[in-house]
Amino acid sequence: MADAEKPSNFIRNIVNADLAAGRYASRHWSGAPGPAAQQKVGAVDTAKIRTRFPPEPNGYLHFGHAKSICLNFGLARDYGGACHLRFDDTNPEKEEQEYVDSIVDAVKWLGWDWNQDLYYASNYFQWMYDFAETLIRHGDAYVDSQSAEEMRANRGTLTEPGKPSPFRDRTPDENLDLFRRMKAGEFADGAHVLRAKIDMASGNINLRDPAIYRIRKATHHNTGDAWCIYPMYTYAHPIEDALENITHSICTLEFEDQRPFYDWLLGKLAAHGCVNTPLPQQIEFARLNLTYVVLSKRKLIQLVDEKHVAGWDDPRLPTLVGARRRGYTAEGFRRFAEMIGVTKSDSLIDYSVFEECQREVLNETAPRRIAVLDPLKLVIDNYPEGQEELCEAPNHPQQPELGKRPVPFARELWIEREDFVEVPPKGYFRLFPGNKVRLRYGFVVECTGCDKDAAGNVVAVHCNYFADSKSGTPGSDTYKVKGNIHWVSARHAYAADVRLYDRLFAVPQPGAEQDFLDDINPDSVKTVSAQLEPSLKDAAAEDRFQFERHGYFVADRVESRPGAPVFNRAVTLKDSWAKAK
Ligand code: ATP
Ligand code: MG
Repeated sequence: MADAEKPSNFIRNIVNADLAAGRYASRHWSGAPGPAAQQKVGAVDTAKIRTRFPPEPNGYLHFGHAKSICLNFGLARDYGGACHLRFDDTNPEKEEQEYVDSIVDAVKWLGWDWNQDLYYASNYFQWMYDFAETLIRHGDAYVDSQSAEEMRANRGTLTEPGKPSPFRDRTPDENLDLFRRMKAGEFADGAHVLRAKIDMASGNINLRDPAIYRIRKATHHNTGDAWCIYPMYTYAHPIEDALENITHSICTLEFEDQRPFYDWLLGKLAAHGCVNTPLPQQIEFARLNLTYVVLSKRKLIQLVDEKHVAGWDDPRLPTLVGARRRGYTAEGFRRFAEMIGVTKSDSLIDYSVFEECQREVLNETAPRRIAVLDPLKLVIDNYPEGQEELCEAPNHPQQPELGKRPVPFARELWIEREDFVEVPPKGYFRLFPGNKVRLRYGFVVECTGCDKDAAGNVVAVHCNYFADSKSGTPGSDTYKVKGNIHWVSARHAYAADVRLYDRLFAVPQPGAEQDFLDDINPDSVKTVSAQLEPSLKDAAAEDRFQFERHGYFVADRVESRPGAPVFNRAVTLKDSWAKAK
């Protein structure tokens, strides 16, 4: 989409106004780590805007993150800016390399590139520490030695102001001494915290002297045991943004009440000469909420840990690794993000909107193939045994330039079980004794009957074919039939497992009325032994196809082997849930 056609949104309006006003025109590089390490200190930052995607490496990315990724990287692309991938790894406890790797993969898979702008917040620990000393020296921070309970009790409520800590008036020298001893490891976890000194009576509780450093004797995945005090997220994040010359720091609405602290902190640090101006601005937008999924890290972890799903990349999970295995496309995610846009008010998007974006992309790009998912034998009694021939099937009906492919035809075929009945209901045009149908891209056949086992189940259907009815041959269109069914030659077919995935939850808002685990859809996956068109045997992992009449499928990237792919259904051809509701 060209820039001018992009739907406007309130964030683009802010960026447009900032650019018109030249608000970020003269940003210089400080001597900070991160970007400045690759840039000349003091040089002008030439990127028009800088945004960032700052995941905490404590879980796998999900569909909500995809919205944020497409928003931040999309703005940078559209405005000639840069978007940083920054691991917000200031909390030593829950972070792991496994998550870092998966996040890198997921952002790349979505089609975005951070170029050289990949950073770790933990590389700024020394800077954050030095800035804290500066705040202490200026009387903007103090060491509090109240217990956690006392601090909580003295914080006040929405209607009552907080009470100043008895330690609030320690001198800068006392504070500096204590803070340095906290850093040196002299105290136990929780013995002291460093707090910003703002206003215990503020109407915004976040400004009632928030904690900015705590003691936590824990090993960090990047800095090891170098530190035993760690900055709080609300302190670290604005500093990370400022050190990286971020212009627009976009986050979800729950941080709105933190914005005054964001501005207070950076205002102080700029006044003390710690960070450059112009300062980044925080902008909040409504997070993505989708029906039929859960997007909370805690719930996703629970689904994986308690084995309700097969792992983080289970194709039913709304993680990006799961989506990729499921066969969803990155382009479909980008389209979805573009379509839903960004707003300031929370809303719930119907999952079918997401599926429709995926369907659109898959319809445009996926070659067509034939698959029989519930196979029943069809015997053409008047077709000579041992004979075979080729029929031609188009690779994409709307894209004739993709050509046709040969599919073998022989005496015994597989058809869908539902394409035959002994006694047809009204309006049924497929196979039943005495009726004629076209075997798509092949011949017209007339049904003569069926074989049954002892229990009365149909085990084979019989028919005769019309030798002059082959699709594409002169005169073949004189056969007028209402039914058109698909098939594969039994002798040539590739027998493979196909997983029919469906929604993981049976209700639009899992957990709204009962424990979300009780809302799990018991039929969210069904594995069938299918009979596939022979060429599908050569599908490479992640090749996507439309199986005619069935939907869009992908060769599973984990379980497929060369010459032995297994397939996952990404999405059906139509929204089957719209009817069900
Ligand atoms: P946590 O509770 O662990 O902080 P989180 O979902 O906020 O979980 P982060 O790793 O902090 O995870 O998120 C990285 C970025 O993705 C943040 O900027 C966050 O605002 C954004 N994000 C997270 N969930 C959504 C969502 N549902 N919609 C849009 N953006 C989201
Ligand atoms: Mg977060």
